[in-house]
Amino acid sequence: MEEKKATMPQTVERFVSPGKGNGLRATARMSRGQLVMSAEPLASCVSNKQAREVCHHCFTRSETLLRCSQCKLARYCNTTCQKQAWSEHKEECKCLRRLLPRLPTDSVRLAARVIFALLNPKSRTDELYTLDEHKSHLDSMSEQKKEGLSQLAAMLELYTQQELSNLTQEMTSALPPSCHDALSLIAKVTCNCFTISDGELQEVGVGLYPSLSLLNHDCRPNCVMVFEGTKIQLRAVQDVNPGDELTISYTETLSLTEDRRKQLEDQYHFTCHCQRCESPEEDGLMLSGEKAKWSPLKEALLRLEGLKTQSNWKELLESCSHLLAAVSDEVPDENLYKLRITDMALDTAVHLGLWEEALRYGKKTLPAYRLHYSDPHPVHAVQLMRVGKLQHYLEHTEDALDTFKQAFKIMKVTHGEDHPLTFDLQMKMEECRCETDHQSPGKH
Ligand SMILES: [Zn+2]
Ligand SMILES: [Zn+2]
Ligand SMILES: [Zn+2]
Repeated sequence: MEEKKATMPQTVERFVSPGKGNGLRATARMSRGQLVMSAEPLASCVSNKQAREVCHHCFTRSETLLRCSQCKLARYCNTTCQKQAWSEHKEECKCLRRLLPRLPTDSVRLAARVIFALLNPKSRTDELYTLDEHKSHLDSMSEQKKEGLSQLAAMLELYTQQELSNLTQEMTSALPPSCHDALSLIAKVTCNCFTISDGELQEVGVGLYPSLSLLNHDCRPNCVMVFEGTKIQLRAVQDVNPGDELTISYTETLSLTEDRRKQLEDQYHFTCHCQRCESPEEDGLMLSGEKAKWSPLKEALLRLEGLKTQSNWKELLESCSHLLAAVSDEVPDENLYKLRITDMALDTAVHLGLWEEALRYGKKTLPAYRLHYSDPHPVHAVQLMRVGKLQHYLEHTEDALDTFKQAFKIMKVTHGEDHPLTFDLQMKMEECRCETDHQSPGKH
């Protein structure tokens, strides 16, 4: 059995953040790139969308996974992963079988795993923040949203019914009072869960990390979270002084103040008053160019997203390239809508195996990323790495090495030198160095 206790470092403490409620702050100086803390989830699960492609124990993507012969949903790298997962999958497996062919949503599966984890006496208790204290936001929720949650709560009851019917007594003693009804529990889980992503920042699952739920939001945060399997590593991306609140961003960095605020209000039930929201100069940069020129790009986005959902790559690439050609240099590359479409063209060209075209779009995004991501950010590092890989594949080896070096500078801060992705990147850089040495034999 793995040791799952989260040890809270001495350099972090819980406090009441003015206007925000509970928060986390530093008690010592931390420099940029420092690991602030790491934490394993109280409970986590692979999302249904990824259930066939990702190991349900270590969250690694693989093409050949063993399937659980009983529920036929869970999949594992090998029998070692399967065995290690069993204590967390045992009850779930029975619940899943009973519901077949229906499949509970990700949040219902996660909530059930939270219950089973709390019923397990081995579960840790040294969190700074307990589930009992987690906000459910039921009071400030719209009727429509509450209705949606009620349906999930009903599904949670149905899903766990048989496994928990004999355990009412235990549940009452093991779970905090505010979690006894399914609706409060599901509300807490959906408001506080984290999306778990892989090295390419693609969603693989969801998890609950009680102490990290204390981290408040800032649109220009001083920390970022990176995953290694299901473990979260929280690192400082700015220098932090003792007493400073530690913050992360709950939203996409690359979005307008109005859109960020709306998302935070809808999803997390607060209005952001951070510095970036109060003086939104960056919006001007994201909306650079004449409105009449970029409006068609903005309006096209919804349709393009639709094509993406249908995996209609050919038509999507044609549309993107047509739209981008129509505005050409009249809209600057840092314009948010132009950047989104250029990014989409990059993804699509990669899907279609059109490497030269992918590289052309990828290179176009880099100066814009540099402008918009003033602090080190995993999204920026991953973008550089993608472009570097294309350059490397197309044998633009010196360019590739240069791009990888830029990625490394960011990743040292956001991922740390020991992260597997940083290690992969260093291998790539080494390959490029060997290849350029062999290409210029005259120099030695
Ligand atoms: Zn595995
Ligand atoms: Zn199973
Ligand atoms: Zn803000």
